[in-house]
Amino acid sequence: MAVQKLQGKRAIVTGGATGIGYGIAQRFIAEGAVVIISDIDQPGGIAAAQKLGPNCEFVQQDVSLPADWEHLFAVADERFSGLDIMVNVAGVTLMGTIEDMDVETWDKTMGINLRSCFLGCQGAIKLMKADGGGAIINMASVSSFKAQPELVAYNASKAGVDMMTKSVALHCARSGYGINVNSINPGVIQTDMLKKVISQVEDGEALMDSYKAMHPIGRIGEPEDVAAMAVYLASEEASFITGSAFTVDGALGLN
Ligand code: NAD
Repeated sequence: MAVQKLQGKRAIVTGGATGIGYGIAQRFIAEGAVVIISDIDQPGGIAAAQKLGPNCEFVQQDVSLPADWEHLFAVADERFSGLDIMVNVAGVTLMGTIEDMDVETWDKTMGINLRSCFLGCQGAIKLMKADGGGAIINMASVSSFKAQPELVAYNASKAGVDMMTKSVALHCARSGYGINVNSINPGVIQTDMLKKVISQVEDGEALMDSYKAMHPIGRIGEPEDVAAMAVYLASEEASFITGSAFTVDGALGLN
């Protein structure tokens, strides 16, 4: 049997009810980790944890709310007596240009996509630094560096995730905490989020075809493609890697 890369590691994955978060939790468990998944979707989260088996537990959480983070970390500390891996995945794509987006949609995007990572990093560092270190992974996007007019808030939130990751990584490195902090920039990945984006436009099929064509590799990504990078960044093999952004996009970003 192949060596399990995350044997005995204790992890939290937000947005774990579906999509990329679910895919990461599934791979982590296969690699020997125990995982708490969180999500705002309670029925979805419970069903996901049941599917993922005895090494997974679900905690309901709105990632934009500090009180929900306190609860999540309290549960993790109680179950795990510490934490090795924090993966901030939960996010939303709310569409709008600078001319048609209202301030509530802007604030909601920032709360769920960016403030969440700030709060997740802050709480994880508290647990990890008392416990000999760990790995934090924040989910950004190719939208961090490729602008789209209809994604004004999403672009800004994901660029914020990448730069905040670097600031946090530098702080942890200079403090000698042994905590590595990196981000992942996926291309278009086949998930519920993609289905929602497709359903918000008039000709969804044409948009899907254009997404496929945008990836020089000839296909869009799967959650497993992103999960493989997360396993690597969470493993001991990545111990010299911190403060970096890893593109997983079939060369979309080069187009
Ligand atoms: P998804 O919509 O399939 O899953 C996101 C999960 O987050 C859902 O289970 C949802 O219930 C949960 N969630 C939403 N708001 C929440 C909140 N306030 N608190 C807690 N949970 C909440 O999305 P996905 O495609 O798996 O995307 C996951 C992450 O990857 C997001 O941060 C997204 O921006 C990023 N990403 C996705 C793609 C893509 O093409 N799918 C590409 C690049 C980056």
